[in-house]
Amino acid sequence: MKLPEKNEIRKPTKTISGITPVAVMLPPRRCNHGACIYCPNLNVPQSYTPKSPVVMRAMEVRYDAYKQVRNRLKAFEAMNHPTDKIELIIMGGTFLQYPEKFQYEFIKDCYDALNNKKSKTLQEAQRRNEQAKHRCVALCIETRPDVCVEHIEKMRKWGVTRVELGVQIIDDKIYKKVKRGHTVQDVVRATEDLRNAGFKIGYHIMPGLPGSNMKKDLQLFKKLFSDQKFKPDQLKLYPCQVMPGSELEKMYWRGKYKPYTKEQIEKVLIKMLKNVPRYCRVMRVMREIPPEYLIAGTIRIDLRKEIENELRKKQSKLKEIRYREIGFALRDEKKINFDLKLRITRYKAAKGEEYFLEIVNKDDILFGLLRLRIFEEQATIRPTTFHQANIVNSKKTSQFKNTNKRAIVRELHVYGQALRLGEKGEVSQHKGLGKWLMNEAEKIVRKEKIKELAVISGVGVREYYKKLGYKLKNTYMVKNL
Ligand code: SF4
Repeated sequence: MKLPEKNEIRKPTKTISGITPVAVMLPPRRCNHGACIYCPNLNVPQSYTPKSPVVMRAMEVRYDAYKQVRNRLKAFEAMNHPTDKIELIIMGGTFLQYPEKFQYEFIKDCYDALNNKKSKTLQEAQRRNEQAKHRCVALCIETRPDVCVEHIEKMRKWGVTRVELGVQIIDDKIYKKVKRGHTVQDVVRATEDLRNAGFKIGYHIMPGLPGSNMKKDLQLFKKLFSDQKFKPDQLKLYPCQVMPGSELEKMYWRGKYKPYTKEQIEKVLIKMLKNVPRYCRVMRVMREIPPEYLIAGTIRIDLRKEIENELRKKQSKLKEIRYREIGFALRDEKKINFDLKLRITRYKAAKGEEYFLEIVNKDDILFGLLRLRIFEEQATIRPTTFHQANIVNSKKTSQFKNTNKRAIVRELHVYGQALRLGEKGEVSQHKGLGKWLMNEAEKIVRKEKIKELAVISGVGVREYYKKLGYKLKNTYMVKNL
């Protein structure tokens, strides 16, 4: 490989949103419920193929979490990417179903690798990471909607900030047909509890499943955003493909299933993308499946680019977050107006109020965002770490006597690298966007007469919140207002 020139960033889109993603792959293990009919069976981490880059990298070090993280950091450094703000992503199978001891060690190894030092306990590793060179600013776990609610407290102890749920489609009949082993009610429950505990929630959506069709896919997709029980913060759109060793492969050869054609996928994706509201980010479109592992479906993993270019040509704008991020506008050398303003979108979700705060310019280019949730603690609510933190607090003071309203910041994101890229221009005047967003969130909370604001914070961002007057309480950063 040719080494990058000084200051040349290889594959800049990898860190264009300001955070460096480090994916860590789990060793193979079957899910407890069996296998969904579209899931490949290839003796590698479930739902992945042997030639996926992340699987190959993991196999090289026998799925050792410590080595995977160290190797990724080195690779990013060699490509001149920043490695100070890291998002850890645990991938492959259902992590929360692995043996407890394994889960603990795996997470600890990840922090140890970021610190480049072995700690005695996870807590010690986290404390070290608060001031480490490579800080864990976000930690993401992929899981099933029926395997997460009971693990919320544990996930917070690990420093998890984002959960990706395999939702695929919100239809019980189809769940049965594809052997998902959970129901729509599980999705609703997981979404509500995760939201109240402050997590950012991503859904994986799979158009083209057996039992569905384009009309149904679109109808149910629209429901994701019209029904307050769902409203995810992020999406991954992975059309159903036929992969080796899956039950779907047998159905395909027997003529019982046909995946969407490239044209059908394109049509569905365009309509879906046009229906995504401004508070949701489409993280990925199409799964990266090496062509030799695709029995039927489309190999066009770059379909998103093609669709977006087409939409740009037609001047039809998308509202979803990624399409509007400053990093992409800078990459495309667009002329940027740096007159910034605050925009607030308020919407109802899972029995609470969500405030989506954005810093945008007049062309709707996005520089930073914050998600604030205000909700009422119900008597019947299932306790989460966040609730427990508040209950403890409310016993000590009388401030919650007349209200059981809670406020939590679920995400604060300023497009860091993008700002650095634009440092020569006027954009450098706008440092402090995070503070601006936090101030506005605090104003809303005060107006609601709530005396305390909590923030779900990656371990590596605690120092930042401390400077804004927040203190660590039960894994959350909390400020009395
Ligand atoms: S839950 Fe995910 S990993 Fe498990 S069988 Fe289904 S698709 Fe595969």
